[in-house]
Formats: sequence, structure tokens, C-alpha cells
Amino acid sequence: MRIECIAIGTELLTTRRLDTNSVWLGERLASLGLAFHRKTAVGDSHEDLAALFREALTRSDLILTTGGLGPTFDDFTKECFAEVLGAELREDAQSREDMLAFYAARKRVPPASNFKQALLPEGAEALRNPVGTAPGVWWENPKGHPGVRIVMMPGVPREMKRMWEDQVEPRLRALAGTPTHTLRMVVAGVPESALDERIRAVRERHSHLDWTILASLTQVELLARGSDPAALEAARADFQPVLGEDLVGVGEGNLEDAVLAGLKARGETLAVAESVTGGLLASRLTAIPGASEVFLGGATVYSAKAKVALLGLDAAQLAQDGTVSEATSRELAEKVRARLGAAWGLGITGNAGPSAEGGAPVGALFIALAGPEGTVSKALTIPGDRVDVQLRGMAWALDLLRRVSRIG
Ligand code: AMP
Ligand code: MG
Repeated sequence: MRIECIAIGTELLTTRRLDTNSVWLGERLASLGLAFHRKTAVGDSHEDLAALFREALTRSDLILTTGGLGPTFDDFTKECFAEVLGAELREDAQSREDMLAFYAARKRVPPASNFKQALLPEGAEALRNPVGTAPGVWWENPKGHPGVRIVMMPGVPREMKRMWEDQVEPRLRALAGTPTHTLRMVVAGVPESALDERIRAVRERHSHLDWTILASLTQVELLARGSDPAALEAARADFQPVLGEDLVGVGEGNLEDAVLAGLKARGETLAVAESVTGGLLASRLTAIPGASEVFLGGATVYSAKAKVALLGLDAAQLAQDGTVSEATSRELAEKVRARLGAAWGLGITGNAGPSAEGGAPVGALFIALAGPEGTVSKALTIPGDRVDVQLRGMAWALDLLRRVSRIG
């Protein structure tokens, strides 16, 4: 099946908005053993859209579009496709009813422009939108193009995902070949290149699987795809000893999920004192449902003043050690642990740039972990810009906690 994705919206051609929908759809297709042969982003222009739709109809069996289903003047995906295919637009009673109900539930009256969302090309089926007002379209065998399927979905990522999961994927599953399974292993604290080197031999032993290595600033993901679950399980068993303590987890979830789940399982709590990361650590942890059972809280102590006033560091000692120093990171960890009575206290200080600060070069980072058996610390130099230093610093802090507390 030749599958094509068309992301519609002028904003996708500028730096204002990234086309994340097609990336997400690509992942979901892969889980069905399917892949795009082409992806395009196109602006809200009648002419460009019509030309692209004509081309797509000649080269693809399944055309997925996102965007341009809204009520405003720049939304005309349906109208344009109908025009290209010579189909009339008719009002779909269910879509009209859904739209009226959506507004009624919010005690609002739909603007007149919204009624065009209930229009549907003749011969097509509406895909209901439970989280928004724009229904999608499922159009099989349009006139003159037997065997072609067109699926139009809203641009709002949340609406598109819901529509895909509830209505589009189940229909495609029936059309797809053998389903693929994925083995996902999350690794932290090892650079991608070193990891690649280390796993080469074992990966080659499992070369019948389709491998991907995905590095981000906070972790590396190793992905294997295959149709036989037993082959994936055999790969997991072979990788486990090679990855050793660097393996954060297998399956869904990221570094922060693993740390939180590990502490939760043991009934242990955590407090953080953040200077250079400015609350990033707390933000990541609290994004996870159920974080409150583990994460007691902490302080964003960005200035020397805050370190003294909020956590009780000694001003003279701090001036002597320097704010970006190992000694200060240890003080932060110990003070926040003691103040909140947590099992673990993480302290992080560093210089994210752009200029050297109090003698500490850009990228200098100190992380300390205070725990039941004392305090450990780690000094690092992190390349990159401010955000890189902050994200990597956050990940190193979580990874230090994971390793020292022997989670997993
Ligand atoms: P639309 O359905 O064209 O009205 O788009 C509604 C919203 O979804 C806008 O805020 C778009 O920026 C966003 N959006 C549209 N297409 C995409 C896409 N491919 N990836 C991510 N966001 C999108
Ligand atoms: Mg749009």
C-alpha cells in the first residue's frame, strides 16, 4: 500500500509551528507494519492544495491529510478535495447534530461559519470528533479513483490523535499485513556513539530485526521492530547483560518515569534544590501522574540570596566555595533533604552560559545526591547552549539518583 501524508497549514511552512502530526502518524503506521512513501507540508492555498491532491491521487493508495477542517476562511481541505474529485458537498445530519451538541454543552451558540464543518463530500463518510467541532472524512473509492482511500483529519494534534486511535487505525488494521511488535529499551548516561559501539555485536546477532537508535538530550532509545514477539524477547534477553546498569527500562516510559516508579515502589521520597536547571527537574517529575507520592517539592534557588534565604546555606561559606562548585551542590542536596525530611535530596548547580560566571566555565555542572548513606556528587562539563546544559543536567541528576539508589 502506497501511503502519503499531507500536512496542511501555512504556519507549518514557517518556524511558527512544526509538523508534528506526520511524525506521530508515521510512528502509528509503523506499529501496523506500514510506512509513508511520501510526506508533504503545504500552505493554505487553493491552487497548491488542488495541485497536490491531483498528484497524490495518481501515486498513492492511501492519502492522509491533517489540517484545514476548521471553520475559518483558511480552512478548505474538504472543499478542495471535493472540487478536485468533482463531488458535491452535502450536509451530514449527524455532524450537524454533534456540532450543535458541542456548543450546547458549553452553553454557547455556534457561529454561522461553523455550519460548513457539517458538510461532507458525497460518497464519503464522516469521522466523528468527540473532542472538537471539525469532523474528519473517510472517503473510499472516490469517483474515477477506484482502490484509493482518502482520510482527512483535523490539524489540532489532540483531535487528530483521538480520531486516529478511535476510528482510523481500527479500519486500517484490517487492511494491513502482519502486525509488527516493538522492543523499546531506554538507556541513560552513555553517549549514543559509545552505546552503538558497545551493542554492535549483539545487534548483529539480531539483525533480522529492524533497529533504530534514537538519541535525545536526556536519554537514548534502542528500538527493534519485528513480527515475531519471541524474537524480540530473545533480543531483550541478550541486550540486558550488555547494557547492564545503563539500562533504564524496557517498554514505555522515560528516565523520569523509571526513577519515580522505582522510588514509589520502595516508599521513598525526594526533594530537589535547583540552581542551574531553574525548576526543570521539578517540572519533569510533576508532569507524571502520581508524582506526589514520591516528590515532596523543592526550591529554585537561582541566586546566592535564594540559596541562603530559602535553604539556609551559610553566606560566607557559599562565597568562599563559589555558587558553581561541588561543595555548594552538596550543601544544596543536604539542606533540601533535611528541610523536607526526604529520603533523597538532589542538588544541582552549574553555569549554563552564555558567559563564564564566578570562575566557572560555561557548561560546568555539579550534581549532588544526599541519601540515607551520605552524600555523593558528580562534576561534569556539558557542551551545548543553555537549554542543552539544563536538559542534560536534569537527566544526569535523575540518572545519578537512579544509579545510587539502585532503582530497577
Ligand atoms: P487547522 O485544523 O488547520 O485549523 O489547525 C488547527 C491547529 O492545529 C493549528 O493551531 C495548527 O497550527 C495545528 N496544526 C495543524 N497541522 C498541524 C501539524 N501537522 N502538526 C502540528 N500541529 C498542527
Ligand atoms: Mg489551518
